Amino acid sequence: MSIAVAVAGAAGRMGRTVVKAVHGDPELALVGAVDVACLGQDAGDLAGVGATGVALTSDLGSTLRAGNAAVLVDFTRAAVAFENAKTALSFGVSPVIGTTGMTPAQVEEVRALAARQGVGAFMAPNFAIGAVLMMLFARQAARYMPEVEIIEFHGEQKVDAPSGTAMRTLDFILAGRAARTAVRPEREEFKLEGARGGDQDGVKVHSVRLPGYVAHQECLFGGLGQTLTLRHDSTDRISFMPGVVLACKQVRSLDGLVVGLEHLLEL
Ligand code: NAD
Repeated sequence: MSIAVAVAGAAGRMGRTVVKAVHGDPELALVGAVDVACLGQDAGDLAGVGATGVALTSDLGSTLRAGNAAVLVDFTRAAVAFENAKTALSFGVSPVIGTTGMTPAQVEEVRALAARQGVGAFMAPNFAIGAVLMMLFARQAARYMPEVEIIEFHGEQKVDAPSGTAMRTLDFILAGRAARTAVRPEREEFKLEGARGGDQDGVKVHSVRLPGYVAHQECLFGGLGQTLTLRHDSTDRISFMPGVVLACKQVRSLDGLVVGLEHLLEL
């Protein structure tokens, strides 16, 4: 039997791509589509796959109930995704959260609710396999090259910064980093405030927002007389879909909330 999937943010760029991926997978069935835009329109028409009989609504609760959804995929905005996750879990529906920007406290609240409800939940700042590998490689590299800066590039409409991927990469780097060795000036002088980017525990993070980008990141490691660059590029939102589909298929068997696609992959 196919897995009943509802999509929140179904009119958005990621949401439409998810609708198409769910529609195209024989093990998944699209049963609901929620957004605040394009209400009443067919989700499949919006996604370019033709009519699916699933119209966009604004009420998540009744959509989950009407479609008897088992999984809710969320690509909205952080504050919305947090409320949606709580609603889904209270209905016994497993959330697959791709939306980035939730605070650590919100993530912990989702974790606690998932545990209390005994419902599997999943969240990943990046569903692209190449980005997951980049994060794992960055952790490895930081053991030997602890001086590192991150530059992430996204489209001009992205609201949160740094990206969820950059924040997660930071976690990986800080978990793997050896003691730092570089000797830096005692005081840096800025002609432009913020020129050196954000800083967490000595790792600088720079966020670029320009038309033309989808999701890209470089991790620059500097050592004695050498640099190492890890770079990942999502040039199309389709790069995230195998990960989203995998999460839809596995989320119900997870024990509470799991964060990070690496936990669903045999790496
Ligand atoms: P988008 O702006 O194109 O889409 C967001 C959609 O959410 C819009 O259609 C908007 O109308 C809808 N929305 C807003 N408020 C809502 C509400 N209250 N209820 C229901 N829908 C609502 O954005 P996007 O590019 O699709 O990105 C969405 C999110 O996904 C962002 O947080 C982005 O960072 C994240 N993202 C994650 C990954 C990943 O791999 N995890 C990849 C790409 C993007």
